[in-house]
Amino acid sequence: MSDSVKYLLPEDRIPKTWYNIAADLPQPLPPPLHPGTGKPIGPDDLSPIFPMALIGQEVSAEREIEIPRPVREIYKLWRPAPLFRARRLEKALDTPARIFYKYEGVSPPGSHKPNTAVPQAFYNKEAGIKKLSTETGAGQWGSSLAFAGQLFGLEVKVYMVKVSYNQKPYRRALMETYGATCIASPSTETDAGKAILAQHPDSPGSLGIAISEAVEVAAKNPDTNYSLGSVLNHVLIHQSVIGIEAIEQMEMAGFWPDVVIGCAGGGSNFAGLAFPFLGKKLREKKSVRVIASEPAACPTLTRGKYAYDFGDTGHLTPLVKMHTLGSTFIPPSFHAGGLRYHGMAPMVSHLKELGLIEARAVRQLPCFEAAVQFARTEGIVPAPESTHAIRVAVDEALRCKAEGKAQTILFNLSGHGHFDMQAYTDYFAGKLEDRDYDEAELQAALAALPQVA
Ligand SMILES: *Cc1c(COP(=O)(O)O)cnc(C)c1O
Repeated sequence: MSDSVKYLLPEDRIPKTWYNIAADLPQPLPPPLHPGTGKPIGPDDLSPIFPMALIGQEVSAEREIEIPRPVREIYKLWRPAPLFRARRLEKALDTPARIFYKYEGVSPPGSHKPNTAVPQAFYNKEAGIKKLSTETGAGQWGSSLAFAGQLFGLEVKVYMVKVSYNQKPYRRALMETYGATCIASPSTETDAGKAILAQHPDSPGSLGIAISEAVEVAAKNPDTNYSLGSVLNHVLIHQSVIGIEAIEQMEMAGFWPDVVIGCAGGGSNFAGLAFPFLGKKLREKKSVRVIASEPAACPTLTRGKYAYDFGDTGHLTPLVKMHTLGSTFIPPSFHAGGLRYHGMAPMVSHLKELGLIEARAVRQLPCFEAAVQFARTEGIVPAPESTHAIRVAVDEALRCKAEGKAQTILFNLSGHGHFDMQAYTDYFAGKLEDRDYDEAELQAALAALPQVA
């Protein structure tokens, strides 16, 4: 046990393998289905838009998957990422709880997303692909893929959700600095975008719409593949570097966490931190509570239905079984654009159904309140998405105080908020609102879920 606040690993402790929780599941994941036939899809259905190496990881049941050397070399730019103990926050909360956080904002684009952008660019380059198309919400994924694409000499085109495109001009500038092209979605460049604009000329866009545009471009061009920043199994596998490092760092600190927390949009940073801990729970019977924190305005895990649905609004993707608000549901605009997705990673949804994880919905204003307290004690200004994890960590620490329990809490600080200062400006000006989603719209979207036998 030490008094340190910062736990650093040497470069040679960057993991050599990723962790795949599929190997430790008590029940297998329901397979993705072809929307036309209703039958499980095969590799050939995905090969027009993904390289075979990633399709292989998508269906792999191997526990450990080797991280290619060139990927580990690039990981060295920011990994191993630091783990901190938030002693000043603990003191401010006057809690007996120990609060730790893993900080992923040290990557060049400022979030956990390059952990998967780099291997995705690597495998596509190896497969002879020239261009990648993708979507982005707040711009974190777009800038991460722009960064990774540039390192491997791939052209990157990003469809950015229109509301964020207007709210976050500096994220767009960052993508362009890394050499990518960024287009506001819905756009007039694709059939999917045109169809939405014909119905809703003022559409603020959504991740579901932007995914349709990016998939369409990849499907129509043989030299172009599609890249997704969250949700899919291979993305969750790549993000496991977060939790693998954190297990070693918690050992350095001398504590095993009672509670592990991550914010969940598509589920990748949450899974990245939590799954390696859950693996130990499943294999070694170590006890740990795991909580996914999501926005009350887009409450996929807490209010969505566990059902087969499309991953995108234009219905170009396979059907996957997940917690969903319905692929036609457009969440209200709020600042944590990275959490504005109608669905959830099938693997995260499956674990929720198995009772292995909990979910909690939190409102934007209390999240910013916790984030400002965090910035004023720990110094780091969190991304709006990450504030959701901080809120739940603070609530857990306050619960420990009320119960007089000295538990250990670990959360993922998935990114910094340096490109999101407008959100903080709005918060201080009292302009940030807690907008509710439209219940009638949600019910309509759920009623329109595809029928699967
Ligand atoms: C994209 C993003 C998220 C949400 O995506 P997940 O796949 O759920 O992790 C959370 N935090 C940050 C900083 C992001 O950029």
